[in-house]
Amino acid sequence: MHELSIAQSLFEIVLEEGRRYRLERVNTIRLQIGALAAVVPEALTFSFNMISENSIASGALLEIETVPVVAHCPKCDVLCEVENLVFLCPECGEPLFDIVSGRELSIIDIEGETGEEDGAG
Ligand SMILES: [Zn+2]
Repeated sequence: MHELSIAQSLFEIVLEEGRRYRLERVNTIRLQIGALAAVVPEALTFSFNMISENSIASGALLEIETVPVVAHCPKCDVLCEVENLVFLCPECGEPLFDIVSGRELSIIDIEGETGEEDGAG
């Protein structure tokens, strides 16, 4: 289950960002995960919830966007979406080695609250 180690590094990044922006609470974490990263969103969410318990990110929502695998065909000079991990150009059948996207594992956005009250209220 490699989601656990991904959740662990994700958690560390979230804590780091949380410190940088002085967040008291993290509400939403938006992620982009390529289809080739072979991450099961449910497993990642489960692992993250487990790790982040009793932290600023406890109960945070993981919004996971799956990025399709896109490869470049050198013969047709086009980008084609790879489905079911068949790395062949749908037009000419050329093997596709030039993967343009699909390996992503990135944090797009972290939303939280700073808890600053400015004395008003
Ligand atoms: Zn082609």
